[in-house]
Amino acid sequence: MTKPRQDVNNNSVLHSSAYYLQKIITGLVSLLSGMGVTIHYFVNPSRIITQQYPENRESLRMMDRFRGHLIMIHDANNQHHCTGCGICEKACPNGTISVLTTQNLAGNKMLGRYLYRFSQCTLCNLCVESCPFGAITMGQDFELAKYDRQLLTYILNKT
Ligand code: SF4
Ligand code: SF4
Repeated sequence: MTKPRQDVNNNSVLHSSAYYLQKIITGLVSLLSGMGVTIHYFVNPSRIITQQYPENRESLRMMDRFRGHLIMIHDANNQHHCTGCGICEKACPNGTISVLTTQNLAGNKMLGRYLYRFSQCTLCNLCVESCPFGAITMGQDFELAKYDRQLLTYILNKT
């Protein structure tokens, strides 16, 4: 025995209504969930991690683990701890570093120029970890783009 045509139509309307209602409830739950996040950060502004860059350029500090590019650590008198041993150069997997040495007045080997090609650096940190004297580290500068590739080669030692 087949169902009357009117019953079939009623069932179809009921299913459509239930589906429509379910979608409205899902949408409301999603909306409230999103508003919950917004309200959470509104009442806890110290927990906001989004930065208003570049407006905050002067005060912006990167996280400790951020790796800008390699720098040589200098003290207040512009002295560094690099001996020119070349261990970091050997540790670098892609030839980013060239340690050019010279001799001091006593004839001992010392650092001449420490060349660092930022355009080749993968920021892997192997050079920093390999240095036995703690002479280099990853800097915190983050505005490092240049128009000319040649400008991405740095001499890291100031003396
Ligand atoms: S930075 Fe460290 S590992 Fe590299 S040449 Fe200088 S002292 Fe040696
Ligand atoms: S961070 Fe890695 S790729 Fe860059 S200079 Fe150091 S060892 Fe080489």
